Amino acid sequence: MTKYVFVTGGVVSGLGKGITASSLALLLKSRGYKVFMQKFDPYINVDPGTMSPFQHGEVFVTADGTETDLDLGHYERFIDEELNYTSNITTGKIYSSVIEKERRGDYLGATVQIVPHITNEIKNKIYEAGTTSNADIVITEIGGTIGDIESQAFIESLRQMRNEIGKENTLFVHTTLVPFIYGSNELKTKPTQHSVIELRGMGIQPDIIVCRTPIELEDNIKDKISLFCSIPKEHVIDSIDVKNIYQIPINYYKQKMDEIVLNQFGLEIKKSNLKGLENLVETVNHLDKEMEIALVGKYVELHDAYISVVESLKHAGYFYNTKILIRWIDSEQLESENNLDDFFKGVNGIIVPGGFGNRGIEGKIKAIEYARVNKIPYLGLCLGLQLAVIEFARNVCGIKDASSTEFNELCPNPVIDLMADQKSVVNMGGTLRLGNYECHIKKNSLAYKCYNEEYIVERHRHRYEVNNQYIQTLEEKGLVFSGINDKSNLVEIIEYPDHPHFIACQFHPEFKSRPTRPHPLFKSFIKASIEYQNQKEL
Ligand code: GLN
Repeated sequence: MTKYVFVTGGVVSGLGKGITASSLALLLKSRGYKVFMQKFDPYINVDPGTMSPFQHGEVFVTADGTETDLDLGHYERFIDEELNYTSNITTGKIYSSVIEKERRGDYLGATVQIVPHITNEIKNKIYEAGTTSNADIVITEIGGTIGDIESQAFIESLRQMRNEIGKENTLFVHTTLVPFIYGSNELKTKPTQHSVIELRGMGIQPDIIVCRTPIELEDNIKDKISLFCSIPKEHVIDSIDVKNIYQIPINYYKQKMDEIVLNQFGLEIKKSNLKGLENLVETVNHLDKEMEIALVGKYVELHDAYISVVESLKHAGYFYNTKILIRWIDSEQLESENNLDDFFKGVNGIIVPGGFGNRGIEGKIKAIEYARVNKIPYLGLCLGLQLAVIEFARNVCGIKDASSTEFNELCPNPVIDLMADQKSVVNMGGTLRLGNYECHIKKNSLAYKCYNEEYIVERHRHRYEVNNQYIQTLEEKGLVFSGINDKSNLVEIIEYPDHPHFIACQFHPEFKSRPTRPHPLFKSFIKASIEYQNQKEL
């Protein structure tokens, strides 16, 4: 039977609950157990797909096309397991399915209530994550902080689950803050005590308490937390601030966090293999070169809006022993400038990531033109492909009014247009072209050099596409359509060979990059950027 670990947070948000959950998952996986992860988000949106990146950061897309919270990206990168529709549950998802059942008459005349109907629905989603993944252990992170009104039904469901399947099948990890008070110069346990009291008030006694702290917890602090919170001292784990997040699982391992979990579940303590992780920590701690990449976007004030892109750049940097510095460029600022030299001085590669709507578009097009003309390595992602096509159509093919119908519905030369099956779509939520689609790569292309494969599968999230009516014109001027989806005849990858490294894709490679397995397109982009940097220095 699948075992379930629940990770809650107390005191303040931003303690790194997600990192704690995924670190534990990684430790259990490295002992040979099959793990799966899930996150509960207490907001009423059915998924984050309709939320502004300014509000919520990036929308992470799983292989099956579910639009999820960006924490799922951290999970996938950490544990290197594909997650799916059972991995991100929101209040909106729970309520819409309960209301749908009520309308169908499934409740046979009952008054539909939070307990038991909403809580049953929540529990079903937890069990479903276990049964569909066939995992030994499912780790569920509960978004928000204990005491929030929004998360109460979730917490109540966990209490019921403990009651149903017992302590040998469920385990509660509570993450809290142990602050250091300057002046008296000591660590304080009171916030942890209060947060555990709050959790107990909801019927949950934690089994492990993870304390975020700036300095190591001394024995007397652990004793105090153990006494007041009724857990063995060894179950008080310190999560000391670190520069390198990959150090966190190693710190937990040293405190035997995974062994505590396996003991409670009555599972064998198999041999652990953390070699890969230790090597990664070494690499990240000793990057001996630096290089700057420009990221041109419109959500640049909130770096979380591009978190997977940033992580993917870093992964490729690890491979080449190079620390990647990002120059955040707000595309709108480029719009009124005639000379972009100052913006891009010292930059060795330019990336235009995904985006929606027409604000800042012209600035991004200018950045792409700058990369193309000055032969600076370019990587375009989704919107970054569409704008590269517009730029090429306007500035190389002379179609001055080329644009996308996303920005101008009546555009006379829509080189980017709504996909045919999108024309009748009314609802905005969950209706983009989402998740895995195959791409057929042309041999003798840069794309083929990157992947070294003829057929690849990548994750998508878009509504518009390259308008095939313009392909011939664009090809005549040298643009190469090097990746195509054979079934729908949609363009997946473009490149411009008269340039050291100009490539863009309609999909989102950033969702598939892993710290020890950088994505081929990012790897090739960083390699070209390093070559560009070296050549400048000659
Ligand atoms: N707005 C564009 C579209 O819908 C690009 C989407 C994206 O960059 N994710 O097709």
